[in-house]
Amino acid sequence: MACILVEDRGGRGRVDTVTAGVGRFAIRAGHMFDGHRFHDGPVTVVVEDGRIAAVDPAGAAPRPDAALVDLGESTLLPGLVDAHTHLCWDPGGDPEDLAGASHDALVARAREHAAAALRAGITTLRDLGDRDFATLALREEYRRGAVGPELLVAGPPLTRRGGHCWYLGGEAEGPDALVAAVHERAARGVDWIKVMATGGFTTTGTDPCRPQYDAEQLTVVVEAAHREGLPVTAHAHATAGITAALAAGVDGIEHCTFLTESGVTASPDVVEAIVGRGVWCGITIGRVFPDTPDDIVELLEGVWRNIRRLMDSRARVAFSTDAGIDPNKRHDVFPDDLADLPRHGFTGSEVLTGATSAAAASCGLGHRKGRIAAGYDADVIAVAPGVEHDLAGLRDVRAVWRGGRRVQRG
Ligand SMILES: [Zn+2]
Repeated sequence: MACILVEDRGGRGRVDTVTAGVGRFAIRAGHMFDGHRFHDGPVTVVVEDGRIAAVDPAGAAPRPDAALVDLGESTLLPGLVDAHTHLCWDPGGDPEDLAGASHDALVARAREHAAAALRAGITTLRDLGDRDFATLALREEYRRGAVGPELLVAGPPLTRRGGHCWYLGGEAEGPDALVAAVHERAARGVDWIKVMATGGFTTTGTDPCRPQYDAEQLTVVVEAAHREGLPVTAHAHATAGITAALAAGVDGIEHCTFLTESGVTASPDVVEAIVGRGVWCGITIGRVFPDTPDDIVELLEGVWRNIRRLMDSRARVAFSTDAGIDPNKRHDVFPDDLADLPRHGFTGSEVLTGATSAAAASCGLGHRKGRIAAGYDADVIAVAPGVEHDLAGLRDVRAVWRGGRRVQRG
């Protein structure tokens, strides 16, 4: 059988019919970022039954029995991994309204948001705060065969009574209630436990500068979760909350803002503890908009300084969005936010590593996500040529494969 060559230099059109099923085919493109570094020159990626079977950095033609999708000068990347999102949240709405939403409405909204993320090239999502375990229902739909991003879910985060994100329904205080909450989540089948170690910006009456739980209570959560085989990641803006979470033995820290009453500064001893314990810092990145308040601009400048300090100290850093929490955080915002980071001193490789291989590893998926390499899931995207010089090309997504299936992009 002759090799089927499908020209698709614009990235849109005929190839969908060829690669809609899961079989053996090859993708050829002019450039590649493999999850760690850029490769120049043509590359051929062979996909078989949803996995990457081989990668030829010389761009050779595949075996004659494999269909070839030729994407011209496009750049191939591993599908992006957004390790901190909120699929049930309406970016344009008031988060506290979530308290009154029906299960079906939450699932429908999550489905729509996940589809938007997938079309933007985000092939794996970790949801770190739903209500009513709505994202578990969506994860089941995907497991039964519907096309969607790979989902990891935490359900409602554990929080104090009236604490940060109380409206998600995860209020628990005291050792017995905390252990019961962890058990309930384990019994339902969550992938992660999320705990709100400090106050947050989206909940009236909570203070991001202050801890919500002390190290003792966080230890109860971590020990209960680890007994169930579940990792724990802690929302922590305040440095005191980061310290308490580290002492409790969490696996990840979300935001990791190093917020104090006097500003945002990473203290060297806490950074050293983060590095020493190998804890993942899940940095939720953001951009400055004309309507961004001055105090948030200042906070973001502190966050960019912190990322550099953490990276230079060899801390484990991954990037994510916190999508859903405000109008500038749509669920497909990740490529835009990543494209902004080089303005703050980060190289293209640093940014893309933080959104692919590192992000996958931070979610516990480093063995099968976030790289273009043999044996990895065929979650592959093609973006505009030249992305190695200008990450703005991330916004120009030309093709998305999820588990070897080509995603219809409308
Ligand atoms: Zn969040």
